[in-house]
Amino acid sequence: MKQQQLRFDGRVVIVTGAGAGLGRAYALLFGSRGASVVVNDLGGSRDGDGKSTKAADSVVAEIRARGGKAVPDYNSVVDGEKLVQTALENFGRIDVVVNNAGILRDKSFARISDQDWDLVHNVHLKGAFKVTQAAWPHMKKQNYGRIIMTSSNSGLYGNFGQANYSAAKMGLVGLANTLAIEGRKNNIYTNVIVPTAASRLTEDILPPDFFAELRPELIAPVVVWLCHESCEDNGAIIESAAGWATKCHLVRGAGTPLRVRITDNVAPEDVQNQWNKVTDMSRAQRHESIEEVSSTLLGILEDMKSGG
Ligand code: NAD
Repeated sequence: MKQQQLRFDGRVVIVTGAGAGLGRAYALLFGSRGASVVVNDLGGSRDGDGKSTKAADSVVAEIRARGGKAVPDYNSVVDGEKLVQTALENFGRIDVVVNNAGILRDKSFARISDQDWDLVHNVHLKGAFKVTQAAWPHMKKQNYGRIIMTSSNSGLYGNFGQANYSAAKMGLVGLANTLAIEGRKNNIYTNVIVPTAASRLTEDILPPDFFAELRPELIAPVVVWLCHESCEDNGAIIESAAGWATKCHLVRGAGTPLRVRITDNVAPEDVQNQWNKVTDMSRAQRHESIEEVSSTLLGILEDMKSGG
């Protein structure tokens, strides 16, 4: 039997930072699958200076030339409610928000100014907060929504010269973790994409041979699938690049008690003596929720009460 094409007819999608790079690839694919697309882009430089209507306009023209439905939006993501207004005024609803807009202000940690910190955090973290919060009540009311946060391996693992960016990108994982919980009962699913792709953000970072293989079009299908109504993942972190994808998890080791009885205290030497066991990840496990993690602590306390 032929597999049915994943369609977005009747769905309204905002892609932020859709005038170039990954966002452009996402917007084009959504547009080709029947979605009405708000192509948001401030059109500034890589470090967030300036603005222009050109980037958003050219992607809207591309989508329309292929028979798709799209409108431009030139606002900064920090004015999230304006983006949602554009969706409502033009298409009457909002179903999907792909938080993708991004800038870089790379500096070694000691040289990061307040402005480098604030601008990067405003675009990545506050921008995602503002756009998503503006869409949230509409999604709740219609009992449906799909949200993407864009993180980065720089956040998950750290990267020299990107302290401001890494912190914002890991902040987006925390935001997604909680939105996944708060949205679940209203069928609003939030997932995280961790891309590696050729764009102006990576042209001087990635080696040229590698760069050539990292077409954004190879990641767009992963994001589009995550935003489809038939995808049931919620709270997942998905890494993708070069036509490959995987799920990532935080894991916790099995741990060890630092004291035997509930009446014992813990000295720094106890920690030193147990350090190999504290840091042993050979029995590491994924935990699904804060409740699950807390309940393992209750079990540990019970063991101590009964003397180990
Ligand atoms: P890009 O520079 O090609 O695209 C980002 C777009 O966001 C630009 O068109 C820019 O004008 C727009 N933008 C910037 N500030 C904005 C604002 N305030 N409001 C609206 N639009 C704004 O970069 P890209 O590589 O396609 O990056 C897309 C996202 O993916 C970013 O969040 C980036 O951090 C993330 N990311 C990219 C990579 C990669 O390898 N390319 C890796 C990890 C994460």
